[in-house]
Amino acid sequence: MHHASTISLNPKAYRRNLRFIRHRLAPASRFCAVVKGNAYGHGIEQFIPIAEEAAVDYFAVYNAHEAYRVWMTAKQKPSIMVMGFIDDADLDWAIDHEIECFVFTVNRLISAAEKAKKIGKKALIHLEIETGMNRTGFDIEQLPDIIPVLQKYADSLTIMGVCTHFAGAESIGNFVRIQRQKERFAQACRLLTAHHIQPKYKHVNCSAGIIRYPEMNYDLVRIGILQYGFWPSMETFIEYSQPLSSKDNPLQRMLTWKSKVMNTKHIAKGEYVGYGSTYLAQKPMTIAIVPIGYAHGYSRSLSNQGRVLVQGRRCAVIGIVNMNAIAIDVSPCKNVQPDDEVVLIGRQGKHTVSVASFGELSNQLNYELLTRLPLDIPRHVDN
Ligand SMILES: *Cc1c(COP(=O)(O)O)cnc(C)c1O
Repeated sequence: MHHASTISLNPKAYRRNLRFIRHRLAPASRFCAVVKGNAYGHGIEQFIPIAEEAAVDYFAVYNAHEAYRVWMTAKQKPSIMVMGFIDDADLDWAIDHEIECFVFTVNRLISAAEKAKKIGKKALIHLEIETGMNRTGFDIEQLPDIIPVLQKYADSLTIMGVCTHFAGAESIGNFVRIQRQKERFAQACRLLTAHHIQPKYKHVNCSAGIIRYPEMNYDLVRIGILQYGFWPSMETFIEYSQPLSSKDNPLQRMLTWKSKVMNTKHIAKGEYVGYGSTYLAQKPMTIAIVPIGYAHGYSRSLSNQGRVLVQGRRCAVIGIVNMNAIAIDVSPCKNVQPDDEVVLIGRQGKHTVSVASFGELSNQLNYELLTRLPLDIPRHVDN
């Protein structure tokens, strides 16, 4: 049976984004591709082979289930790090399969070490430091208690990394907070060094970080949104392009999400469109109904806001996004017919839609809308 929409991925766009990112890193620096949230909606099973083909050999996920999917899909035995949740019952699997994990509680640390001892392998851990995000991580004040545990279990642990995460590197409004995070991270690193604890990697930066705080790249970066061809925020793009003469976007979105026109209608001036009275036709117009809605991940916040592409033209979403349908204004197009292609995200002709048209709405919507693209939308890879 045919789905109401399909997603396709463009490996060329991915390689281009990767070149852009790698160009900003020191040659020896490692690139870790963040594929949490089903690879930001792109599909773990479809995305991993593209990344492996492009010589990516390090992946970060947020939980053990995602790690399992990456591990099942990957062909070249990449490194996989879990940045968040692992149920204690899954820790054995992780250690046995050399899955790396962030450690941010003493219990997790001891549990990992004890399990590793039993299994006869080393647990591969990243010490997460709380520097101001206030999500997970050891407080600096906790480190004097942690260090003896690390020393006691030295034979059962490999300290792969010491790391932290910036609380909003994509916005200049967080600048002062980020400076404090940098200082605390440096302080934690000094403390570990003083006790001869030498993690293999220091890692802090995410997408916005490598643009705005390149001095924090260290020897590994964890990159999500940028590799898929989206800027973390409009601001980040402005800061990047400000000193350059060209304002062309060096990134290319690798995802296209398409649907089709289901039917069309002519509407007289003065008619309301859809539920309620949020859209009033100011002139006679032609509208098309597209069979995707918030049940398919097309956010309700795009009501009267979203833009889609038909015949290479930008068309406005009018009225409320329904559970299974949207109405769009196709008045500027010529003779739109059922089955005509509708691009919800991606390129058609000369135009692209980034989710919410770039800059019109909060770019946070890019992260949210991408990751909410349902698992069951068919995804394929372009040639
Ligand atoms: C999501 C996430 C990243 C990647 O963030 P982007 O802004 O998409 O590059 C990096 N580190 C951690 C801990 C994350 O949760």
